[in-house]
Amino acid sequence: MKKYNFNAGPSMLPREVVEATASAVLDYEGMGLSLMELSHRSAEFKPILDEARALLKELLDVPAGYEVLFLGGGASMHFCMVPYNFLNRKAAYLNTGTWASKAMKEAGLFGEVVEVASSADRNFCYIPKDFNIPTDADYLHVTSNNTIYGTQLHADFDSPVPVIADMSSDILSRPVDVSKYSCIYGGAQKNLAQSGMSFVIVKESALGSVERAIPSILDYRVHIANGSMFNTPPTLPIYTALCNMRWVKEQGGVAEMERRALQRAEILYSEIDANPMFRATVNGEDRSYMNIDFVMAPGYEELEKSFVEYAASRGVVAITGHRSVGGFRASCYNAMPLEGVAELVGCMRDFAKK
Ligand SMILES: *Cc1c(COP(=O)(O)O)cnc(C)c1O
Repeated sequence: MKKYNFNAGPSMLPREVVEATASAVLDYEGMGLSLMELSHRSAEFKPILDEARALLKELLDVPAGYEVLFLGGGASMHFCMVPYNFLNRKAAYLNTGTWASKAMKEAGLFGEVVEVASSADRNFCYIPKDFNIPTDADYLHVTSNNTIYGTQLHADFDSPVPVIADMSSDILSRPVDVSKYSCIYGGAQKNLAQSGMSFVIVKESALGSVERAIPSILDYRVHIANGSMFNTPPTLPIYTALCNMRWVKEQGGVAEMERRALQRAEILYSEIDANPMFRATVNGEDRSYMNIDFVMAPGYEELEKSFVEYAASRGVVAITGHRSVGGFRASCYNAMPLEGVAELVGCMRDFAKK
């Protein structure tokens, strides 16, 4: 049976990308060696890193003056690296969920943190609007897509201070005006590659203004100066990311990814809204196109487990919601085909009929 994988992360990648990675692990381009066995400084690996960095710039139309890095450590490492490198005295954070809160907590180790707004009062089911950003903050930190709660900032932020964004779960799913940010970062395992890697797009001129000493491994400038090879980079995830970005480009780039994401989200949210057995946890414009959260409607709660089982019996897997929301979460990243969403919708309709 064909499986549709709705995991939130690590998550589904295009089949071609998984196969290209598998083949490179066994024998990289007929060399008789695994890509895992090649030096990161080898003649074979260097072009992989170069093309991956160039392709991320190309796909997101990154302006001059920005550098791309692929580092270990995951998105959580940047919760610490961002304030280390950018926070002199005060930073502003928009609290839209678990990941934003974690980022904020780390920043507190480095200076004053202003929570400009929070949606904690309603279990993060919306994005706060109309708040004041202190103009003396070193930056405003936002989480563009809230993977757990299923909310998303659909437009790039206008802010009087530089914006820094955690784009772990919606990178490459839509065009981004990179010039509005001094740093964009995320973990690779949602929409870019497998786990074990993070990506960074950083504006070089925004660095170097903090007074503290920064350990080399946590200093973005050191990584830039070394071409993302200060130490051994995660070579295999970089290769997977490259294959995935080639796929995104072939499919029509981030504008096409956005069109598909909208189409998937439209179909799924319409069914959730129309089907009396289910209810969305997020309403209106803040709904994520990537992570679609829903629960059983009142009166049907006890059927939750049987719906997960029923869906799995039809190949629709990993739809269990995060423990802090409950219910279901259908993560629809770039690789999710429309048929996957159609099958989930079919499951919802047939389950309601039963
Ligand atoms: C998954 C996720 C993280 C955490 O990523 P790690 O790579 O595990 O550190 C941070 N932010 C967002 C928005 C995420 O979705």
